Amino acid sequence: MNQPTFRAPKGTFDLVPPRGEAVLAVRDAMAGPVRRAGYGYVETPSFEETGLFARGVGESTDIVTKEMYSFTTRGGDDVSLRPEGTAPVLRAALENGLHRGALPVKLWYGGSYYRYERPQKGRFRHFSQVGAEVLGTEDPAVDAELIVLAMDAYRALGLTEVRVLINSLGSSESRPAYRDALQQFLRGLDLDEDTASRVEINPLRVLDDKRPDVQKALADAPLVTDFLSDGDRAHHDRVRRLLTDAGVPYDDDPRLVRGLDYYTRTLFEFVHDGLGSQSAVGGGGRYDGLSELLGGPRLPSVGWALGAERTLLAMEAEGLPLPGTPGVDVYLVPLGDDAERHAFGLVTELRRAGVAADVATGGRGLKGAMKAADRSGARYAVVVGERDLADGVAQVKDLRSGEQEPVALGDVRSHLITATSS
Ligand code: AMP
Repeated sequence: MNQPTFRAPKGTFDLVPPRGEAVLAVRDAMAGPVRRAGYGYVETPSFEETGLFARGVGESTDIVTKEMYSFTTRGGDDVSLRPEGTAPVLRAALENGLHRGALPVKLWYGGSYYRYERPQKGRFRHFSQVGAEVLGTEDPAVDAELIVLAMDAYRALGLTEVRVLINSLGSSESRPAYRDALQQFLRGLDLDEDTASRVEINPLRVLDDKRPDVQKALADAPLVTDFLSDGDRAHHDRVRRLLTDAGVPYDDDPRLVRGLDYYTRTLFEFVHDGLGSQSAVGGGGRYDGLSELLGGPRLPSVGWALGAERTLLAMEAEGLPLPGTPGVDVYLVPLGDDAERHAFGLVTELRRAGVAADVATGGRGLKGAMKAADRSGARYAVVVGERDLADGVAQVKDLRSGEQEPVALGDVRSHLITATSS
């Protein structure tokens, strides 16, 4: 047999049915709570000027230094496939003047993201996220709102083992003192050259180093929560209080930092313990300074991104059935040329009336077509043979009970609309 010449690029995979529908259903479920909360949909290009990410995500982050798909266009522009959604959405909000209207602006979005990472279970080079951002308010209520909406999304998917870890990284009021203390501590450690230089550029990132020996050395590192100003502490306490009021349990994690530089104050991650090392199914935080970094006005904001594929893996880890199983409610089985013509008209009418319906094609015999009807997931099969046509009826079979009844051809459409809507 011939082997196909091309395969999906390393670190990527195709989504084919039924997993294709499952990921679609996961994305829909993740967007449901924010849509019902009035967030507006925003869509940005899959690539942006490279500088946006260098500036927005941070020059020294792994994402920017190692993981971007960057290239120069034929016209000489330096662009990158988007590795994350917040910087592009904020860029779009500023460019379109959304911040000049009523604040806050609440937005949601989704799509493909690209990172040149070392592929492993739950970590891919192409993945999809649903994201939400609230721009233009410092109110801790929106931090809590976003966390609650994400937890509602996981719950809507049937997940019961997603935990939320929260921390505060402090604002510009608290950060310098903490940065100094952390740098002083880190300079006293025996670190490799790369890590030592990170201590000077971005010491917080060192806390995110996953290597066990580094983690061990960090056991006595100063904690950001011990350095919070009164304002930052009050913000953080308010978020935690509102989560408790909403019945959302959380774990305080004073060591939580994330791989993007723009976060201030509230930081959170949604984790699932059934996933091994890639346990984060989503995450986000507040980024009060990002707008100014991008040349905009002060626009304190907060947001999250939830990963669709990892969420699906988490569902599998909990033994939940794949959501969004494809299929139809009605399957037509025409036998013979005239019946095929008739069935083509009927399936079109049913579909136009909103009934999920399919029809056997290619002149299949009864046996093969009934197998296809079973595979389609249909509740009803409609068999139309030459004799039925002559009698002016179709045989409507309930595939669950096995009962079959002849229905006058003129009534089949309304019969099925009624049957499938109950
Ligand atoms: P991040 O922007 O890194 O916080 O990503 C947000 C979420 O997107 C993560 O919690 C993951 O669920 C998902 N995600 C990030 N990177 C990848 C990746 N390489 N492969 C699959 N999912 C990812």
